[in-house]
Amino acid sequence: MAKVLVLGGTTEASALARLLATQGVDAMLSYAGRTQNPLAQPVPVRVGGFGGAEGLAGYLRENGVTHLVDATHPFAATMSANAMIAARLAGVAHIALTRPAWQPAQHDRWTCVGDIPAAVAALCGPARRVFLALGRMHVAEFAVQPQHHYTLRFVDQPDALPILPRHSLIVDRGPFTLAGDRALLQAQAIDLIVCKNAGGTGAAAKLAVARELGLPVLMIDRPRLPERREVHEPAEVLEWLAHATPAGAERGV
Ligand code: NAP
Repeated sequence: MAKVLVLGGTTEASALARLLATQGVDAMLSYAGRTQNPLAQPVPVRVGGFGGAEGLAGYLRENGVTHLVDATHPFAATMSANAMIAARLAGVAHIALTRPAWQPAQHDRWTCVGDIPAAVAALCGPARRVFLALGRMHVAEFAVQPQHHYTLRFVDQPDALPILPRHSLIVDRGPFTLAGDRALLQAQAIDLIVCKNAGGTGAAAKLAVARELGLPVLMIDRPRLPERREVHEPAEVLEWLAHATPAGAERGV
């Protein structure tokens, strides 16, 4: 019988957990532990890192996991790479549940950059009012561009205030709406949005508002990952569960 470990922290992971629970699949959801009050889930939850790829491989073996679903955020590149290695080490079947990247539409004013340091560098120049839509991580890296006013939106109230000299902090949890993001961008008089190409619908409203208001967006591209089996819908994971064999068996080793 299948025993599934879902690496989570995303809307897609929660949707998959609901589906697995309704199907009576033996599943566990794993969180890194970044948010203080993660949403209640219909499957058992474990929290915290595994100790790298070796640690995760040990966890998979010790807990009799047969299938590993990487449903982490597209920017959680370390975890995703570790998941691939660990599945191979433990001989466990592996799949990634991902969201397609956002694509620019007509009237979008995107500038794409490769990573966070490139986004920081692109902010040199006169003071602007920037919506830094990156969550809590990486905010400190923008302190070298202190001329801007930054609007930040975090899931939780931080223990320490962000070190950016000029900022407004909003504590809110997605999914975000068109009306809500329009009100936020207008109230904060935003003239530039900086965000990651997360994909999905939960954080897409700000891009629609940017298009509507003609605002530029500095879009950070996704980190590259090695080739892996990938699906975009929780139902496709179910289908895979019915047929997948462990990693070693697939390769005939
Ligand atoms: P990361 O840089 O790829 O991972 C750093 C370390 O955190 C991993 O090596 C692992 O520790 C631990 N970790 C990450 N995801 C985990 C999970 N689901 N369960 C248990 N341990 C996990 O990841 P990150 O970018 O910090 O993201 C952390 C979590 O936040 C992920 O679950 C991700 O889905 C979610 N998230 C990330 C973003 C983002 O923009 N990066 C946005 C929204 C949500 P060990 O090596 O000790 O195992």
